[in-house]
Amino acid sequence: MTNTTTIHDAVIVGAGFGGMGAAIQLQRSGYSDIVILEREDDLGGTWHVNHYPGLAVDIPSPTYSYSFEPNPYWTRLFAPGAELKAYATHVAEKYDLTRYMRFNQTVESAAWDEQAKHWTVRTTTGEEIRATFLATATGFLSQPKMPDIDGIESFEGKVIHTAAWDDEYDLEGKRVALIGTGATAVQLIPTIADKLKEFTVYQRTAIWVSPKMDTAIPTFAKSLFARLPLSQRAVRLGGTSILELLMVAGVLHYGSIPAANKIGETLCRAHLRREIKDKELRRKLTPDYSFGCKRPTFSNTFYKTFDSGQARLETTPIDHIEKDGIVTTDGNKVEIDVLICATGFDIWETNFPALTIIGRNGKDLGQTWRTDGFQSYEGIAMPGFPNFFSLNSPFSYSGLSYFTTVESQMKHMARLLEAMDKKGARSFEATEEATAEFMERMLNNLDDSVFRQGSCSTSRSYYFTKKGETPLLRATSTINAFREAGSFPISDYELV
Ligand code: NAP
Repeated sequence: MTNTTTIHDAVIVGAGFGGMGAAIQLQRSGYSDIVILEREDDLGGTWHVNHYPGLAVDIPSPTYSYSFEPNPYWTRLFAPGAELKAYATHVAEKYDLTRYMRFNQTVESAAWDEQAKHWTVRTTTGEEIRATFLATATGFLSQPKMPDIDGIESFEGKVIHTAAWDDEYDLEGKRVALIGTGATAVQLIPTIADKLKEFTVYQRTAIWVSPKMDTAIPTFAKSLFARLPLSQRAVRLGGTSILELLMVAGVLHYGSIPAANKIGETLCRAHLRREIKDKELRRKLTPDYSFGCKRPTFSNTFYKTFDSGQARLETTPIDHIEKDGIVTTDGNKVEIDVLICATGFDIWETNFPALTIIGRNGKDLGQTWRTDGFQSYEGIAMPGFPNFFSLNSPFSYSGLSYFTTVESQMKHMARLLEAMDKKGARSFEATEEATAEFMERMLNNLDDSVFRQGSCSTSRSYYFTKKGETPLLRATSTINAFREAGSFPISDYELV
């Protein structure tokens, strides 16, 4: 157990790419007494937890990685999940981060001590760790959600959530039902379909699927990337620019540039027409909401699995689950051995924030977000919460690659920590005024987005909270995010 009189420089919650980015930045800013607390038994965050068959990144790998740590050895343009996990391990070792990491540590709460100017972080085992700075990097998609379907607990067969895949379990020859058609299901379904005896996929909401321009990266390209990193930077820039166009023009400026969104939708419709011969099946697989309301996905094999009959699509809603099967509202029952829940994650209820965070004067972060609305200053700080870097804040997700978000946050941290150092300050806190100004800008910018101008009511998208707010994405270009991270007025913070 930690000596509670020690005050570390920083406690970081989460050893995924966000937490590691924060640790690297703190090191660069001169802080090396860092503790990283991780709920899981190893590092890598989502890429450690998720290891279902077919898992691969769906952002081109040269873009989905730290710009300062390019990996010339990705085997494919869209690398398999195991390579992301190996990359995380490589980064942790190279930047000497493993010495900070403590695994199997679930953080319950963190409270700011205004007098002593430090955070006290408490784990579920009762251990208390104190630090000057707190950084939470608990991920956006890290609290698996089981479907709330009547009778699910009575099912006597095997139940697997995709975020807790059982590698030992053999699906060969089994009668399987899979619930969900999100990005995870789209990757998993084609990978397991050919080994199953019967396969029924329960779809509640269809998803926009575009072709995946995936390819193996040839050896000559890998050695070129290794010898001439600039060449990989050029590929990265290409990937980032396409994503940026999709995000900024297709999603954020849907109202003024509808053509950009239309291109995405047309690409998906053409893909569906090419892949699915049966008209009725095609109709069922066609989303009835605007492209971009929900995160679209990419696959060259998802539709084929249904077209070939390897999987049967069921769109009649599930009524309940019995000990040996699933009953739909038309009274039909499908008997199964295995139930796979590709039902995603709970974002708004349990993940914002993922632990109890108490700031100055007893201010509770979760309560504040729920009563005053989801908010932040520049997607990283909050008034009332000194010395707190909230990496998974409302309006923090910038661009489509998580690395864009993390690296702009690292830049913001660098500027702020340098200002503190110059002033000899012990604490920082975003001002109410600066936060209100940032929030006003985000909410105004959203007016032109597909969320407000498109037709999203049937999308059931995790971009929306229950109240209909859309506080996940930063409503600016990533160029703007980076520019502001390096130029925000220091006076937006109170440095004490
Ligand atoms: P998701 O997108 O939230 O999809 C969950 C699916 O389960 C949806 O189809 C949902 O239907 C369905 N579902 C949930 N509860 C249900 C219920 N009670 N009854 C029937 N259906 C139910 O989750 P995900 O597929 O795990 O993907 C989450 C995110 O993870 C993705 O958007 C992406 O950002 C990320 N991801 C990334 C990669 C990658 O980069 N390689 C891979 C996988 C996932 P409704 O839509 O009707 O709610």
